Amino acid sequence: MFDNLTQKLTQTFKNLRGQGRLSEDNIRDALREVRLALLEADVALPVVKDFINKVRESALGEEVVKSLSPGQVFIKIVNDELVKLMGEHNDRLDLSARPPAVILLAGLQGSGKTTTSAKLALWLKEKEKKRVMMVSTDVYRPAAMEQLAHLGKDIEVEVFPSRPEQQPVQIAKDALEAAQRGVFDVLIVDTAGRLHVDDAMMAEAQALTAAVQPVELLFVVDAMTGQDAVNTAKAFNDALPLTGVILTKADGDARGGAALSVRAITGKPIKFMGIGEKIRKGLEPFYPDRLASRILG
Ligand code: GDP
Repeated sequence: MFDNLTQKLTQTFKNLRGQGRLSEDNIRDALREVRLALLEADVALPVVKDFINKVRESALGEEVVKSLSPGQVFIKIVNDELVKLMGEHNDRLDLSARPPAVILLAGLQGSGKTTTSAKLALWLKEKEKKRVMMVSTDVYRPAAMEQLAHLGKDIEVEVFPSRPEQQPVQIAKDALEAAQRGVFDVLIVDTAGRLHVDDAMMAEAQALTAAVQPVELLFVVDAMTGQDAVNTAKAFNDALPLTGVILTKADGDARGGAALSVRAITGKPIKFMGIGEKIRKGLEPFYPDRLASRILG
């Protein structure tokens, strides 16, 4: 998608020789290339406009030093602005609360919440040496509860048993109590999603949030959903006190666009990326500079 952006940018500056300044005139074509690349990657229009303005501002008046060509200077500016937009560094999970630290995952059905719960549990267990418990509050889909129980067995992580006839909030409260009794460090709460944003889903996520007071309330979003990711992110961010985002299926079409939009629109850091269906090796911390390099190609 973004593959040739660096190449295209280099090309647009080809005829501009020597030193001097980047000017409104000589960056026009380059800005157009950046704009097109971002739009093609499904970055939301207001985010693209804002980004182009920032790049323009940084570029104008920037002295082109001897050792670099104007193209190189411009590409560096685009890179730096991309990194800035995405938050500069990896934001770690905040697990400093009195244990058990509760992590609640919210998002649409199919976004990857259950898979991500297990990936995160394994990551915390292996990388952070935490004792982790998981629980599913998705009473609408017994298969989702079974899926989590099954994944827990696979990765040897405790799953608090829950049943479809129970109330989601009660399940979460009981699980929290069990996690306290069992001296677990972290409790991961997997919640029910719907195919589209709806009030009942948000009300339930709000009730769960109030009941278990998560230190991390993570919005799980499918990177492949393009422009829809933006609307979904906005709805969840408006309804819930999100602390961060997990971008799943970033292994797919590699549309970095969703990362840019979701970050810009929610203002919340992307903390992890899902990079495959496998629980092992399917999750990695999100590094803005790596995504910036990928976008620039
Ligand atoms: P939920 O409804 O939000 O709980 O979503 P699931 O966890 O059931 O995931 C929905 C589908 O997405 C499953 O087929 C997962 O294997 C798949 N999936 C989840 N995360 C990723 C990812 O990072 N990459 C890929 N390729 N597939 C994923």
